[in-house]
Amino acid sequence: MKCLNCNSEFEPKRASAKYCSDKCRSSHHNTKREAVSSKFDIINEKLDVVLGVLKSGSVAAPSSVQSFPQPTTTYGKFIQKIQNANTEKELRNVQHELVATPKHEFLGNQYQLAYNSSVDRLEEILKNNKS
Ligand SMILES: [Zn+2]
Repeated sequence: MKCLNCNSEFEPKRASAKYCSDKCRSSHHNTKREAVSSKFDIINEKLDVVLGVLKSGSVAAPSSVQSFPQPTTTYGKFIQKIQNANTEKELRNVQHELVATPKHEFLGNQYQLAYNSSVDRLEEILKNNKS
């Protein structure tokens, strides 16, 4: 069979073998880890853009933030959707919806809080998928 890392033919010692050597196995896992962290870089870049918008003052200054959001508010609705998302794809859909929602539907820094929650949730999901 072919090694998943270097593509060379090898005789598997076990039925579950995917790599020709320990070296190839660990180098393949490192590559996967880098792919995941580059995903985080993209999210962080987007988050910086959002924070930049908030700092520039084009969004109303924070007044009071509800610590227990009502599901009837836009913010509460998104927090619920974020918590209910169980796959990367579901969460991406919620993020897209969040980004597409008019900012005036959120009070104070709720938009930023919702976005932060979605980033945290995505991190959780990616961690769970890896194990
Ligand atoms: Zn190999």
